[in-house]
Amino acid sequence: MTSTADKIIAKDIQTTCSYCGVGCGIKAQVDHDQRSVEIIGSDLHPSNYGRLCSKGSALGKTVELSGRLLEPEVFGKVSHWDHALQTVADKFADTIAQHGPDSVAIYASGQLLTEDYYVANKFMKGFIGSNNIDTNSRLCMSSSVIGHKRAFGTDTVPGCYEDFESAKLITLVGSNTAWCHPVLFQRIKAYKESNPEVRVVVVDPRQTQTCDIADLHLDIDLGTDTWLFNGLLNYLNDNGALNTQYLEQYTQGFSEALDAAKTSSSDILELAQTLNVDSDKLTTFFKWFSDTEQSITLYSQGVNQSSTGSDKVNSIVNCHLATGRIGREGMGPFSMTGQPNAMGGREVGGLANTLASHIEITPKGADLLGRFWNTDKISQQQGATAVEMFDRVHSGEIKAIWIMATNPVVSMPNADKVKEALEKCEFVVVSDCVADTDTLALADVKLPAAGWSEKNGTVTNSERRISRQRALFPLAGSARPDWWIISQVANKMGFTEAFGFEEAHQVFAEHARLSGFENHPQGIRRDFDISLLAELSAQAYDELQPFQWPLNQEHPKGKSRFFAEGDFYTPNRKARLLPITPALPKNPVTVDYPMRLNTGRIRDQWHTMTRTALAPQLNQHIKEPYIELHPIDAEERGIKQDDLVSVSSEWGQMTGRAVVTETVKAGDAFAPMHWTECLTRTGRVGAVVNPVIDPYSKQPESKHTPVQLSKFQDGWQGFVMYRRTSPAGEDLPQAQFDLGDKSRWPESDYLVSIRGKSCQLLELAGQNVISDPAESMSQWLQSATSINLSQPLSGEYELLSYLDEALGLYRMALIAKDGTLAAIAVFNQATSNVALPDRNWLMSVFDKDQLDNRTRAALLSGQAPAGEDIGRIVCSCFSVGEKTIEKAIKEQGLKDTNAVGCALKAGTNCGSCIPEIKDILSSLAV
Ligand code: SF4
Repeated sequence: MTSTADKIIAKDIQTTCSYCGVGCGIKAQVDHDQRSVEIIGSDLHPSNYGRLCSKGSALGKTVELSGRLLEPEVFGKVSHWDHALQTVADKFADTIAQHGPDSVAIYASGQLLTEDYYVANKFMKGFIGSNNIDTNSRLCMSSSVIGHKRAFGTDTVPGCYEDFESAKLITLVGSNTAWCHPVLFQRIKAYKESNPEVRVVVVDPRQTQTCDIADLHLDIDLGTDTWLFNGLLNYLNDNGALNTQYLEQYTQGFSEALDAAKTSSSDILELAQTLNVDSDKLTTFFKWFSDTEQSITLYSQGVNQSSTGSDKVNSIVNCHLATGRIGREGMGPFSMTGQPNAMGGREVGGLANTLASHIEITPKGADLLGRFWNTDKISQQQGATAVEMFDRVHSGEIKAIWIMATNPVVSMPNADKVKEALEKCEFVVVSDCVADTDTLALADVKLPAAGWSEKNGTVTNSERRISRQRALFPLAGSARPDWWIISQVANKMGFTEAFGFEEAHQVFAEHARLSGFENHPQGIRRDFDISLLAELSAQAYDELQPFQWPLNQEHPKGKSRFFAEGDFYTPNRKARLLPITPALPKNPVTVDYPMRLNTGRIRDQWHTMTRTALAPQLNQHIKEPYIELHPIDAEERGIKQDDLVSVSSEWGQMTGRAVVTETVKAGDAFAPMHWTECLTRTGRVGAVVNPVIDPYSKQPESKHTPVQLSKFQDGWQGFVMYRRTSPAGEDLPQAQFDLGDKSRWPESDYLVSIRGKSCQLLELAGQNVISDPAESMSQWLQSATSINLSQPLSGEYELLSYLDEALGLYRMALIAKDGTLAAIAVFNQATSNVALPDRNWLMSVFDKDQLDNRTRAALLSGQAPAGEDIGRIVCSCFSVGEKTIEKAIKEQGLKDTNAVGCALKAGTNCGSCIPEIKDILSSLAV
């Protein structure tokens, strides 16, 4: 392989963010000597026009080499590529020879580039002869795929982001857009501010930050969306809002869909009761939707991650088809994908129930694809989808699995069973760019993949826009692109002709050629067609600008919208309205598990934190796993704000901090999905989540798990912080313990490891009795830093300590001889009822290159000196804390977020914190 990355000399490179499905363009200003990069939003990219959120802005902090997987490892030993690839090829070939092609599997990821995905899919479906390749996108949007296919005959998002800037009604369903797709949220917000008549409705059981721009929040009960949209279909029918001409000309199935809707949702008062919402609010929503032609409905994981997710999608799509509001400016149903290349995965057939290039698993589809790939091995059996796949690994049916760029031991539901499955599995291969993940810990072979800043290929965002991701740096260590790794294994298995790729552009061009291959009514007519790029040269690929597919002879400039005039991809080219029979989540609450756990993302972290947790500023906003619960439920269980709470379900258990809030309904709880066993001892929420799946999409029900919550009965709480880098930013030799090095973790029942700018913080708690906290603290510090306090400190460090035996408080600080803070440890007996010192302030003390007397005197007091306690970080971009904002508002009489921005810069970069600044402003407005 001649690596494009080896040829990198440019300093300003246009590339794409690696996180969410908005797909923002980035201008990267690269310093090759330092292997560092400044990230700014690309003004040229039509998805973001220069904007970035906190995660995208911090990408430059994730490109370091420490913590990277840089060499192949085979059975625990560092190896070289030839041996590692041969081991994988031999084991896969042997397993297939003995047990057949369905005894092996690939579990891929929406983090892969389209080129990687294409080659993985071609390898598995074309040449192994099994459709056992699925992806973590199954957990994200497979219900939308099924919804689209059932209604449109194809998996097409019919609109584009510009529709959010011309709609008159924007309905956001099951989507905390403000935190999960922040740049799209910023676009909607800016548009609404300039057009106050535009209405925004948020449909969500939680009152999320997205409600900041809502004219109406419909807090329907978890899982009741199909009743809501059936009710809307009824209302549209009853109030003359149907587009009968569109219905007659371009659709089928309306009367059946309406009959089903009437059965379930005809009376608005009864419906309001079912949904558990105010009937006036419900009527208002129906009226607004009914009256507003330019109406767009965005839906995301709150709709998809459900045992009725496919039906929820179709109940929404039904309403748009019935009003003909689709494919025209400012209107349509709009599925927002979670991952940066979930859509690319859909295009290449990354899901186990489809072939490549939007070709279905049918005899005709297998024949067409077989002729294109020159293979006769394409199976006509659907492969194992994510939950099924790990179940089959668990049962021993799948004996060898290759996991690429994802961390299923954290992200899958019933994650402990997934862990057990991989522990039992005969052969586990993991390709990843980082060295430590919960999944890599179980790998027999570890393959070092290129990271975001070295990757070269394409991604497709939620509006069908294909953008180039360009390498910023040469490949690190022995890391290689995923498409290269898979091609090499395929070659070693004898599939040389089909996997002779040497450059990413060759893969892309083949993918483009396939999209146009017999793509007509006599062959198989498909919407996905980028055949205009079938002969793309390396240079043209390097220069490729973002475009929306299709891109073919008919649409040489791409196409923004589909289906304004029908022309669907069903046999008679008519869309299908589906009769939807509402059903509640499959696992109801029980006496033992009386509450409903909802899961989701937080503002500043991405998936399992393998990259975002490397950026200290992204760890400041929310440091620990948490559980939101309503004050009524908290009181019943004797839980107070910031207490540790155990969440248990039939499947597993996790622990996090209590956030007692009325933003969740009584009976509901919410926990974020991100924390792993590399970062916490007990914070993996996937262990709790139930594995029930939608019967059509096979997407798991991540939004509804019956759980019990109880106060974690801690005997003590504390923390250890120690310097990781010098104030100048260099790594210090004593900082041997970093993310994920569990061998150095102190004994404790609760532990969360958090990276600060200059220090590492370990939050700790235990249920045991600690009789000598000074001794325990010394051991913990030694474990983390190798500083042995039982030996004389020989002038290297000065030890300050404070002990209150009666209350059970112990605090110690180590001052290095250069005058900086080296470490601090704090222990509180739970019975003391004394609050732990503020960690945000202490983190900032580690950033100082000298301790002044005031700070030094305050270190063990537990209280920051007056004016230095900034409180919880609200604005991550500029490290502005809640108390700083409150103080500025009070002292300077600030009235709005703009004024706060002018005074403190908070909210002036990515804007993701503006809803929280607004909350602070309103809490102080008496
Ligand atoms: Fe990246 Fe944020 Fe844009 Fe998503 S919204 S693509 S995370 S910058």
